Amino acid sequence: MSFIKFLGTAGARFVVTKQLRASGGAWLSAGGTNLYIDPGPGALVRCLNRKPKLEPAALDGILLTHKHLDHSCDVNIMIEAMTEGGFKKRGILFAPRDSLEEDPVVLKYVRAYVEKIEVLKENSEYRIGDILFSTAQRHHHRVETYGINFKILPHTVSWITDTKFFPELLNLYRGEILVIHVVRLKPIGNDLIEHLSVEDVKTIIKKVRPKLTILTHFGMTMIKAKPWLVAAELEKELGLKVVAASDGMNLDLEEV
Ligand SMILES: [Zn+2]
Repeated sequence: MSFIKFLGTAGARFVVTKQLRASGGAWLSAGGTNLYIDPGPGALVRCLNRKPKLEPAALDGILLTHKHLDHSCDVNIMIEAMTEGGFKKRGILFAPRDSLEEDPVVLKYVRAYVEKIEVLKENSEYRIGDILFSTAQRHHHRVETYGINFKILPHTVSWITDTKFFPELLNLYRGEILVIHVVRLKPIGNDLIEHLSVEDVKTIIKKVRPKLTILTHFGMTMIKAKPWLVAAELEKELGLKVVAASDGMNLDLEEV
């Protein structure tokens, strides 16, 4: 069984702090391997409140694409849950260097609970059980941030996490399934907002033509525009399958 369960679809401060959408990140499972991606605020609660629940002690690893709170807030408690209170040393934490060094988000005493910490670097390959993945080049985002290309046989899944648009994005993520963080409905002429807009997403998927695109990580302008309507419009305009993720959504990778 291979699947992605979305335990949150919130992006950016207001949607997260008001919990207009959940912000727990995602659970990726392939073969027998379970990897948690970006445990934002509420990750643990979202896992345990599901029916049937997702058991953090079944995780093999946790991956942080970057250290912003909406991606990392629950990383310490998820490590503690994965390692059964720290009593079972196990699992791998994948994280960029700046989430561990400058102003770190992973507590030092919790680091001793995991079997291994792998520092994410640009253009590098990693493996955890049945999941192979690689980072692309560093994103244009205030902190050290990496998008991921997963090889989950028989699929390739590209995950474009937070970033400002940059031209190389068109060539870095060629997965058949594309998960893309789209915070803004419209581009904003403000360099401080380092996030993709629907316009940027359109440019990317026109070029990449994924078999399936999943929009997630919505900011306020996206929530107001109703993400499922935005997805339907993109689908109609581009003739490609586009879905807006919803909280709790399960994507069965064997049915794509
Ligand atoms: Zn961010």
